[in-house]
Amino acid sequence: MEEYIARVLISPEELKKRVAELGAEITRDYEGKKILVLGILKGAVPFMADLIREIKLPLAYDFMALSSYGMSTQSSGVVRILKDLERSVEDVHILVTEDIVDTGLTLKYLKENLRARNPLSVKVVTLLDKAARRQVEVFPDYNGFSIPDEFVVGYGLDFNEEYRNLPYVGILKQEAYEVN
Ligand code: 5GP
Repeated sequence: MEEYIARVLISPEELKKRVAELGAEITRDYEGKKILVLGILKGAVPFMADLIREIKLPLAYDFMALSSYGMSTQSSGVVRILKDLERSVEDVHILVTEDIVDTGLTLKYLKENLRARNPLSVKVVTLLDKAARRQVEVFPDYNGFSIPDEFVVGYGLDFNEEYRNLPYVGILKQEAYEVN
């Protein structure tokens, strides 16, 4: 699997350190509030699993699965909900956890959809932000790392469903696209 990684962009140690910092910041900001941590399947799973253990507050978590119509590495802005929340969110502060914000189209749709359900607030924490690719005005409230415009895999991020279990974030070699 790792033969197709051109280089490691973010090491396991850097991930651990930054996730702990984000957890501490979120713990401070949400003191005394009821949080629902919302994981967006499937990419956010490793990040969310690590992050929730760095948030030193009582919380609940749930998941949504979204699919965007369009090519596998590109988002079209038209989003379909494949799995929805289990309960009403009217009395909670929603903290969306994302793997990456790229064009921003998925997140824009999601924020509007969640706001329509009248939660107390909606904020977003993303592991990665590829701001150079943004097509709509949408910004994460917390960002782990700003990254250049490269296709990355690992720590939840996939290429054709593979590489999600890499313990780091890496850049794929061109050959990986050719064999798949
Ligand atoms: P957006 O709607 O912001 O363009 O798309 C966000 C989604 O596109 C992410 O949740 C992720 O699934 C996918 N995506 C965007 N950039 C990358 C990338 O560099 N690597 C991987 N594996 N997925 C990406």
